Amino acid sequence: MVHFVGAGPGAPDLITLRGKTFLEQADVIIYAGSLVNPQLLSYAKEECQVYNSAHMTLEEVIAVMEQAEEEGKTTVRLHTGDPCIYGAIREQMDILDEKKIAYDSCPGVSSFCGAASALDLEYTLPEISQSVIITRMAGRTPVPPKESIESFAAHQATMVVFLSTGMLEELSQRLIAGGYKEDTPAAIVYKATWEDEKTFVCTVGTLAETARENQITKTALMIIGDAVKTSHYDRSKLYDPEFTTEFRKGTK
Ligand code: SAH
Repeated sequence: MVHFVGAGPGAPDLITLRGKTFLEQADVIIYAGSLVNPQLLSYAKEECQVYNSAHMTLEEVIAVMEQAEEEGKTTVRLHTGDPCIYGAIREQMDILDEKKIAYDSCPGVSSFCGAASALDLEYTLPEISQSVIITRMAGRTPVPPKESIESFAAHQATMVVFLSTGMLEELSQRLIAGGYKEDTPAAIVYKATWEDEKTFVCTVGTLAETARENQITKTALMIIGDAVKTSHYDRSKLYDPEFTTEFRKGTK
């Protein structure tokens, strides 16, 4: 059996209880060493075999899983944040299906949630934005043209940009071309929930400069939109004294 497990954004106590139990029981752990906090490996049994997938190809990862399976062992494939976001899990699962190796998935706290907590942010403020767009700039992995930054910017929703810290000049230009004002609030969150976490509130126009001044070149998320800074939003209906809900009678 292979368990795909979300490690959470960084802090070792932000893995789920289920994920931690899987780590404690695993005979083999293959962890995404470029981003998973190695402190999580302290939950593993002493005799557990540990592999860092940063040095491995897909084929090598699968070979380790296959070998473990032949020996009746349990494998944890540990991915950063939540595996469903830029986790490259589908390609592993498809091969496991072909090989008739059973697997399941355990969610994790994505770094976009860790980044919001680092800034004490609510992405979905009434009358400001009720949507979060999660996207990235094209890198070695292309982004379909219909998902251009410009087209998403047109929504003026809260936007969280992954995997793009080295392209902030271009990101700013494209956000502005898509309709954001240069002074729209933005933030850069570096290593959310890690001990060396850093947060910077800036604007769409100063993203690149902010990263440069603070030597942020990787492991960061960019958050765009008024939700980062506005003080003008509507309070929720859910907690409005006048408003009746399924659980509470309102005054009107
Ligand atoms: N599955 C992961 C994302 C993997 S893609 C998740 O759910 O978070 C890798 C990218 O995620 C990085 O380039 C960076 O943009 C972002 N990232 C991962 N961990 C981060 C953290 N702790 N703080 C800020 N960004 C992070």
